[in-house]
Amino acid sequence: MTHSASFRCLSGCEGSYPLTQAIYRCPKCEGLLDVEHDTEALSSRSAAAWMKLFDDRYKRTLWPYGSGVWGKREWIAPEVPDDAIVSMDEGGTNLFWAERYGKTLGLDDVWVKLCGNSHTGSFKDLGMTVLVSVVRHAIQKGLEVRAIACASTGDTSASLAAYGAAAGLPVVVLLPKGKVSTAQLVQPIASGALVLSLDTDFDGCMSIVQKLAASGTVYLANSMNSLRIEGQKTVAIEIVQQFDWTVPEWIILPSGNLGNAYALYAGFKMMKNLGLISRYPRLCVAQAAHANPMYQAWSGGHREVTPQKARETLASAIQIGNPVSAPRAFKALEAMDGVVEQATEEELCDAAARADKTGMYTCPHTAVALVALEKLAKKGLVQKRDRVVVVSTASGLKFTEFKVRYHDKTLPGIASTHANPPLDLAADYDQVLKALDAHAKSLAAAR
Ligand SMILES: *Cc1c(COP(=O)(O)O)cnc(C)c1O
Ligand SMILES: [Zn+2]
Repeated sequence: MTHSASFRCLSGCEGSYPLTQAIYRCPKCEGLLDVEHDTEALSSRSAAAWMKLFDDRYKRTLWPYGSGVWGKREWIAPEVPDDAIVSMDEGGTNLFWAERYGKTLGLDDVWVKLCGNSHTGSFKDLGMTVLVSVVRHAIQKGLEVRAIACASTGDTSASLAAYGAAAGLPVVVLLPKGKVSTAQLVQPIASGALVLSLDTDFDGCMSIVQKLAASGTVYLANSMNSLRIEGQKTVAIEIVQQFDWTVPEWIILPSGNLGNAYALYAGFKMMKNLGLISRYPRLCVAQAAHANPMYQAWSGGHREVTPQKARETLASAIQIGNPVSAPRAFKALEAMDGVVEQATEEELCDAAARADKTGMYTCPHTAVALVALEKLAKKGLVQKRDRVVVVSTASGLKFTEFKVRYHDKTLPGIASTHANPPLDLAADYDQVLKALDAHAKSLAAAR
């Protein structure tokens, strides 16, 4: 059976467009596009046969199927030939039981899906492998691409730069000056991309790159391009697969541009349509209070976001005031009985510190999701026995400044209640012993 997919208008206008066409908006209504798969062809294989196929491929070495994305190739970008695929073994990330952290909230079944344990340290690799592979396929078919470009809050640019470099394609990234971490800035520099640091915020970078793409100067790699979403939807499939094809009660996701919220839904929807699962988990979209347009809209009962000027947040990857994928995210929230929560700067800092003290090493965005979980537990929406998956979107190792400044107590306006600064001591046995005694006493007192 041959599988196929094409771009369609998200709002249902007539017309379909090949995935190899450089098209980012519906030509009829200017709205977002969606990738539509030939469901009839996919239905010719039973749910049990799909599960077996995916399990047989999972994390094996037969290239490219060991990738968590390309192991699900028929559901993602079925027409990309082997020689166009640019993969660095994305996905297959660990999903662990956060037992001790969960217990601190009175919850028994909290899990963390560590999407940041990936090639460039964030979930963005899942979508970028698909986008760059499709671009390479399109070039084989005659598309002329001067460069692939994106606006970024740090992780998209790191990922695009790496996958572009692996494919030998030129990459341009537009970053808001001073608003990405050092690690995130160094990544595209090291990969050889043209790095443009603009004196604006993410939304300002986005509006410039959209103009460049509309004029045909560059190929657009932002998640407005639904190819990214096709790869990112494997997170949903992989979570269910890792639970032996069972569905958790809740998924909590830190969100900015809101593409990943829709990707998660797209993955669940496809599994439901093809009979692999029979219900959706509930979805919680978690936002920083400083960049909360979806929180404002959803809690006000609106089905459209009012763009805002995002305020500075330590959760810099979600500092977005005008989320491009909001129309997609409303669909996800509606279908998945969703809720939206928010986290203040103080809340996210403390959640990160408390989680780290149970063995995690959370990025600030994951901390936003943890705050949301704590609020849902307090409200009784998440119950003791509910299985909850917190999607950790990036590696904590990319956010060293955040950790250092918290523990140094140098974050302005943050109390750093759980700071654990190092002790400077002389190289003296007695002083070391004294420090150990004092530490044991303070642990005992805290108990
Ligand atoms: C991109 C990103 C997000 C937000 O994803 P959206 O699809 O823009 O909502 C969250 N966390 C991290 C670490 C990211 O890089
Ligand atoms: Zn349309």
